[in-house]
Amino acid sequence: METLEFQSEARQLLQLMIHSIYSNKDTFLRELVSNASDALDKLRLESFRDKDMQVDTDDLHIVVESDPSERTLTVRDNGIGMTREDVVRLIGTIAKSGTAEFLKQLKEQQSASGSSDLIGQFGIGFYSSFMVADKVTLVTKHPHAEKGVRWESTGEATYTIDDVDDAPQGTSVTLHLKPSDDEDKLPDYTEPAKIREIVKRYSDFITWPVRLGGEDINSRKALWARPASEVTEEEYAEFYRHISHDWNAPLETIRMQAEGTFEYQALLFLPAQAPLDLFMRDGKRGVQLYVKRVFIMDDCAELMPEYLRFVKGVVDAADLSLNVSREILQQDRQIQLMRRRLVKKVLSSIKSLQSSRPDDYRKLWGEVGAALKEGLLSDHDNRDAILEVCSFASTHSDSELTTLAAYVSRMKEGQEHIYYMTGDSRVAVENSPHLEALRAKGYEVLILTDTIDEMWVDSVPAFDGKSFQSVAKGQVDLETEEEKSAAAAKAEEFAALLEWMKGVLEAEVKEVRLSSRLTTSPACVVGDSYDITPTLEKMYKAMGQ
Ligand code: ADP
Ligand code: MG
Repeated sequence: METLEFQSEARQLLQLMIHSIYSNKDTFLRELVSNASDALDKLRLESFRDKDMQVDTDDLHIVVESDPSERTLTVRDNGIGMTREDVVRLIGTIAKSGTAEFLKQLKEQQSASGSSDLIGQFGIGFYSSFMVADKVTLVTKHPHAEKGVRWESTGEATYTIDDVDDAPQGTSVTLHLKPSDDEDKLPDYTEPAKIREIVKRYSDFITWPVRLGGEDINSRKALWARPASEVTEEEYAEFYRHISHDWNAPLETIRMQAEGTFEYQALLFLPAQAPLDLFMRDGKRGVQLYVKRVFIMDDCAELMPEYLRFVKGVVDAADLSLNVSREILQQDRQIQLMRRRLVKKVLSSIKSLQSSRPDDYRKLWGEVGAALKEGLLSDHDNRDAILEVCSFASTHSDSELTTLAAYVSRMKEGQEHIYYMTGDSRVAVENSPHLEALRAKGYEVLILTDTIDEMWVDSVPAFDGKSFQSVAKGQVDLETEEEKSAAAAKAEEFAALLEWMKGVLEAEVKEVRLSSRLTTSPACVVGDSYDITPTLEKMYKAMGQ
């Protein structure tokens, strides 16, 4: 037997569980059933791919067992199991992207407000067992391993790990429940009625049978295959939690169905809160692929473009092979068509939120808008649809964002362009002398402060036939004919001065000219139309270019 130490992040998370922050401790069972279900999915897939694998897949299932006299509760599956290395890596460390960031934010938030909503953003997983147990024993066997493994821990700094000769295929997790007179006042989790209630509430849609006393206690109905009118909000919310690990209810549920030559059903969700890994390099994509109710893969990039990575859900296609691989998906024309329809549906759902539930739309935009705007660069086909659901800060209001349609509706007589200015912050933009002439004319200016803004404004030609025009670049064309000839006369009058200034500033500037932009500042520096902007320049420098 070996005693090993938990990785430090794992230890921190365990401490959070032991001194539990969750009011709802019942959810530990959901996590264990969910892991068992994943393990069964994996075994089935593995057996499709590897015909030589010696495993029995005839009766894949999950069993929950309790022993009131011993105060133990066991969740067992005959799924893929884990090798010894798997156990050390998967249970002893936390490999998930964003864990460190999550723990940091959690600490900051707890010291700020004492609340812990944030933890809902993070799949609490296996460690949640320690909310209700003071010791956990896991026995597991992987089909490729010769022997089984027993893992045990009290959730403190260490765990033990040992070989087991006669472990059955799959995994069993046994919780040694905390004493019931504990200050936590835990319900009796060995009580069959309690177990049944929790499984029904959280895991009813799990496609594998969950058995208690020889009886199946979940209905195993895939939500996306049931008539929409029969599925309750709570059921959708539970399912969303299952696939997203986000404990908040989804902001919007989207269902789609296609019949005919290529049949599929989709159940998609828009989040109320951005996933923590939204801007991380190895963040998740979100949509799972099923074929006829059988789970095929997570994070299916072929079904949802990167800029919609905050969309979570399931797509169940009837006409694909269970053996389908990423390579096949990438080349499949039907998949491409399906993806196109999914994208359009997501964008149109956001659009209808905008008109029917403006508060929810604003919430969504605040959470995921910066990701969505990436689509302006990558998805030319849907550019207009994306522009329609974008919102921006503008000089029209200090607090409210505006849509482009609203901007256009306020455009002044004779105004041809949508004016914008990019910068690090609203204050920086507002204090810029570039805004003065437009302000004087009463023109509204969009204030763009996200990094991505610099890039899309250069590549998106127009909205509703109105081109985007930076107020910081080139000649902003604001003059009438009269003003123009007056300006020409002035330029002549000041020609000598300008020539002299140009000589003095030769190393610094390309040109010196009179401007009609400024009303209160004496001078300002502008970029050429084709020059990169100062913010982009900074970005390139930061990237080492
Ligand atoms: P998550 O399920 O989000 O990955 P968990 O903490 O719930 O995180 O589980 C960590 C990992 O441990 C899982 O990803 C899986 O690889 C492994 N694991 C947990 N339970 C089981 C199980 N019953 N059978 C096989 N592997 C499991
Ligand atoms: Mg899990």
